[in-house]
Amino acid sequence: MVTLAKRPKLFSEESFTSYLMRISNMNHTSSMEVCKLISNQNKVRYMWKYDLDLTNLIDQEKVQQLFGKTANELGTFSIIKDKLLEKYDMGLNYFVGNLLEKNGKYCPICIQESLHYKILWQVKDIKICDVHEISLLNICGICLMKLPYTHELLGLGICPNCNNSLTNKCKHIDFFEIRNR
Ligand SMILES: [Zn+2]
Ligand SMILES: [Zn+2]
Repeated sequence: MVTLAKRPKLFSEESFTSYLMRISNMNHTSSMEVCKLISNQNKVRYMWKYDLDLTNLIDQEKVQQLFGKTANELGTFSIIKDKLLEKYDMGLNYFVGNLLEKNGKYCPICIQESLHYKILWQVKDIKICDVHEISLLNICGICLMKLPYTHELLGLGICPNCNNSLTNKCKHIDFFEIRNR
């Protein structure tokens, strides 16, 4: 039985999957194991779906028990999305489904300062960090491989492909060149 006795602080703009990676690492388990416990679906194949649709994909009581937080506190983006769909018509569903970038995206300076991932970074059209005004990256600055949406190592700020820190050498990246790839 997985218990999550240690609970990191949830940052105000943090995505659910970011918190999930951090709390799983802190308690020596994996995001997948935790998802098995909270999911109300047989299998959720794509982790980005949790950020998009958390409140509909999980058992709210189990989340409260395991995380000590409500689904509403954890899945702010899924609530905004539900409100949008309620207000407008279901034709928005397709649009909403395509709103998020399907690779992990980050600001190397932000995660160096405080290791967590903001939900807004995953929105496709958001390309610049509003704090540091540099391009957000969806690749590792060292091996240049695209990042998965979640991974135990991402929760530690490490590239799952080459094991280098994602904050390493971030000053040497040619952000302009990457943006125009
Ligand atoms: Zn930043
Ligand atoms: Zn790498």
